[in-house]
Amino acid sequence: MNILTQDIKYLQGVGPQRATLLANELQITTVGDLLSYYPYKYIDRSRIYKISEIDGNMPYVQVCGQIFSFESIGEGRAKRLVAHFADGTGTIDLVWFQGIKYVLKNYDCRKSYVVFGKPTVFNGKIQIAHPEIEKAPENIKTLASTTGNLFDAPSQNPNLHESELDEQPTVFKGLCPSYNTSEKMKKSGLTSAGMAKLTANIFKLLKQHPLPETLPQYIIAQHHLMPYDEAIRNIHYPSSPEALRHAQLRLKFEELFYVQLNILRYVKNRQLRYHGIMFGNIGETFNGFFYNHLPFQLTEAQKRVIKEIRTDMKSGRQMNRLLQGDVGSGKTLVALMVALIAIDNGHQACIMAPTEILAEQHLATLRQFLGDLPVQVELLTGTVKGKKRTAVLEGLVTGDIHILVGTHAVIEDNVLFHKLGLVVIDEQHRFGVAQRAKLWMKNAVPPHVLVMTATPIPRTLAMTLYGDLDVSVIDELPPGRKPIRTVHMFDAHRQRIYELMHRELSLGRQIYIVYPLIKETEKMDLKDLEAGFEEISRAFPTYKVGKVHGKMKAADKDQEMQRFANHETHILVSTTVIEVGVNVPNASIMIIENAERFGLSQLHQLRGRVGRGADQSYCVLVTKYEIGETTRKRIQIMVDSTDGFEIAEHDLKLRGPGDLEGTQQSGMAFDLKIANLARDGQILTLARDAAKAVIDSDPDERNPQNDILWRHLRELRKSNINWGAIS
Ligand code: ADP
Ligand code: MG
Repeated sequence: MNILTQDIKYLQGVGPQRATLLANELQITTVGDLLSYYPYKYIDRSRIYKISEIDGNMPYVQVCGQIFSFESIGEGRAKRLVAHFADGTGTIDLVWFQGIKYVLKNYDCRKSYVVFGKPTVFNGKIQIAHPEIEKAPENIKTLASTTGNLFDAPSQNPNLHESELDEQPTVFKGLCPSYNTSEKMKKSGLTSAGMAKLTANIFKLLKQHPLPETLPQYIIAQHHLMPYDEAIRNIHYPSSPEALRHAQLRLKFEELFYVQLNILRYVKNRQLRYHGIMFGNIGETFNGFFYNHLPFQLTEAQKRVIKEIRTDMKSGRQMNRLLQGDVGSGKTLVALMVALIAIDNGHQACIMAPTEILAEQHLATLRQFLGDLPVQVELLTGTVKGKKRTAVLEGLVTGDIHILVGTHAVIEDNVLFHKLGLVVIDEQHRFGVAQRAKLWMKNAVPPHVLVMTATPIPRTLAMTLYGDLDVSVIDELPPGRKPIRTVHMFDAHRQRIYELMHRELSLGRQIYIVYPLIKETEKMDLKDLEAGFEEISRAFPTYKVGKVHGKMKAADKDQEMQRFANHETHILVSTTVIEVGVNVPNASIMIIENAERFGLSQLHQLRGRVGRGADQSYCVLVTKYEIGETTRKRIQIMVDSTDGFEIAEHDLKLRGPGDLEGTQQSGMAFDLKIANLARDGQILTLARDAAKAVIDSDPDERNPQNDILWRHLRELRKSNINWGAIS
């Protein structure tokens, strides 16, 4: 019987009520689940400090001494119990705001206790609020008031590796695990310490039973990894800091390895299962455009990327490529030229955008680029209805329409193509893997897929989230663009901001002002926007001010955007609906209010709305005066850099991958339990290479050495819904 799959309910200390809590709060239902709920930090309890050594800046400390008196202070809500605590080197106060009765009943003056907690300074005196407190072990009781360092850490963490856990005084526990738990759990005693008891109970059961290995021996040997059993024990109860590091490395490697194995296996199967449509010809359409209609020279990067895509499309394999290119790098043109290759080879192309505005803009852009070339481009969005819609659907089936531009309306089941050969998805992060896959089904042989994103994704993240895609990068902007000048200003600088605005407006330029909107439904945010709109209208009476936000009807929104694009309005006050893709080259200032509330990549996207013409453009990041250190750093990064990739890397480091835009929706998102994509890039590379070696050397999954690995992967896929989603 495998203990790991046992219901957590039956573990000593759990029972039905806590089992429900663990399942609801942390999705822990088995003993194995609990073992892979890793501590988020460790507290060094190997050392007892002298009170004289303690100051208010220290993290958690442990002291040993006696309570010499209790004192009740304050009234009502401020009422608290203070215990004056001394160890012969000094005194501190232990303070309780709740559970006062319990404390008075259970702890006595003149007895020795080990006290653990975070020291703070209050009224010039050091105190520990709500400390963990337990009786000092016999052998040190008499020493409690001496000053020597008698309680130094034993070199081993003994609680796991020998003796009975319950009887081991915490004072000797060395590195102690801290587990995140919810408020609900804490109320039921499942605090960090409560969780630690449970994991300790598991290890009591496991004493004589090593946990089964989850990686093949040869991989363990090759990468000098700690065995699984040892790693799991040490991740919860490290025998030393060194052992903890090895355990972390092993578990991170394993986690990333299986993620990569899952992705790469999927890629291999996809290649075996599907052949790609061969686009061998470059014909009239492409050449006609390239030689007669292209209004400017392609940048070197655009040329390179088009070549990479062409090579894919004539390889006989189905293309699945991610095209990354900073805002304004000219991805639309690449999409068009690639679509023309599909047309030259007797196929249709479909270009999908995340919003109506963008889809319409693409339509207009493509038609303008194409001029009088005989290429039929049509639009399909939610607002295309009735006769028009019927005509479009018909044109797709007959093949009269060559390029369809649309929103996610194009994935609907009743949208059928004559011969769909290429799908371009613009602004990838709004679409998931499942949606991508749906588009494949629109043709007998799956079409080539090009996913374009202007949100530069750091390499580590791309390898994990989009590990199934090949990557092309446009790393060059069209010539003649002046880098946008970015400044940080406080609310109080309003006058200077207005001066800049007046100057640009008088030169005939236009201005965006963006307000944050966390959720489109939040009234507060709209109020900010309305107030901003009023204020700007008053301050710039001779100019026309427009307003767009997500609560407006799509048609009204479009109209307002159109008015700005046509230069009928001069200032556009808006929420982030203008974030992606919108192209008004005459706009030269982007003002972002409450800039601290945006992610860096989002700020970069917004900033990319200006600087599209040849004139100097500006981005003004407005914050209040009091901002935290991290915010200041983030804003500074924006001021210093216009490189989207650099910004994305910083964003990943500062915020962690979970918050990065797109990770939730990517469809391949999953919770990493221990690895951190921002910090563990090197381990990720190793893990990906190792996984690739397995796939390459054992494509039929026949090598008995790898049995363990396929079996474990199957289990992971069962327990992680997102993994299954990319079968
Ligand atoms: P993005 O990559 O952000 O989607 P766009 O495709 O909207 O960028 O291109 C931004 C602007 O640059 C458009 O006005 C486009 O016509 C122009 N552009 C694209 N390629 C070139 C080029 N090679 N030379 C000059 N301008 C270009
Ligand atoms: Mg674009």
